[in-house]
Amino acid sequence: MEEKTSNGFSEQQMRRRRINKMKMSILTGAGIWIIILSVLMVAMFVKLVFLENKLDRLEKSILSVEQVVEEQKEKAASSPHEEESESMSDNGAAGESAAQENGQGENTSTEVEESRKVYLTFDDGPSENTSKILDILKERNIKATFFVVGFDDDASRELYQRIVAEGHTLGMHSYSHKYDMIYASLDAFKEDMSQLQSYLEEVTGVTPKIMRFPGGSSNQVSNVDMKDLIHYVKGEGLTYFDWNIESGDATSQAYTSDELVQNVMTEVVKYDTSVVLMHDTSAKAATVEALVPMIDQLQGIGAELLPIDDTTKLIQHIPVDSVE
Ligand SMILES: [Zn+2]
Repeated sequence: MEEKTSNGFSEQQMRRRRINKMKMSILTGAGIWIIILSVLMVAMFVKLVFLENKLDRLEKSILSVEQVVEEQKEKAASSPHEEESESMSDNGAAGESAAQENGQGENTSTEVEESRKVYLTFDDGPSENTSKILDILKERNIKATFFVVGFDDDASRELYQRIVAEGHTLGMHSYSHKYDMIYASLDAFKEDMSQLQSYLEEVTGVTPKIMRFPGGSSNQVSNVDMKDLIHYVKGEGLTYFDWNIESGDATSQAYTSDELVQNVMTEVVKYDTSVVLMHDTSAKAATVEALVPMIDQLQGIGAELLPIDDTTKLIQHIPVDSVE
């Protein structure tokens, strides 16, 4: 009898243990599911925010494209004297212009413009990507501008030559592209620039007359007053160009090629003349990838894609006229 009771007792204990075990595994399972679901929810939320942002950008660019189409319709309906008024307003804009880097040449509703000029510019090359960029431009029969730095290897020498041979503008960007050296003194700047100019002349047979200051004329790193450098450059018969549109490929934030195109398309509709800043370095694969869709979309809104030359409206952060 006593044995029976103790058997019954241990059986009861076993059952209780089994039930506890089951309870534990159910609770653990439920816990794991809750964690998985929470992680999924957070991931979905992040994705949602990302998509919302993307949608916002797309919406903005559709609106700007619509605005352009609207403007073009209005233009078509306006008087045949528009050409005259365009060149006048263009001059007016150039005069007052460059004071504000962003206000430059901005279209107003009253301004009638004949065509939208877009200058694609590539800084810091040549690089492993230069021939890819040149191939795309060649295929599309488009000329652009390369603000190059000094490299003396054979591959680079061929690329400078190819840029010139294929009708692009070979612009100077400095030989060393080392800000602390170039901007250490007026003499250092002079030496660097003349080194690049005579080097490019030797390699290509062409003397470049167009340049872009490393970091732009508005850079905050120069040890020398930029106005002194501008004064010097002007005296040398050089013309410098900054930019009014950044593709964004220089920022530390890694944009996708779609985003680079988007950045350009949202801005380009604001100006009659756009100088687009891009980079030709080995690390900038997205820039190469963005090029075909960018060209397609720019041509889609009727933009003319041109190389910088001496007829190009000056896009300068510090206007050359503001310097004696
Ligand atoms: Zn640069």
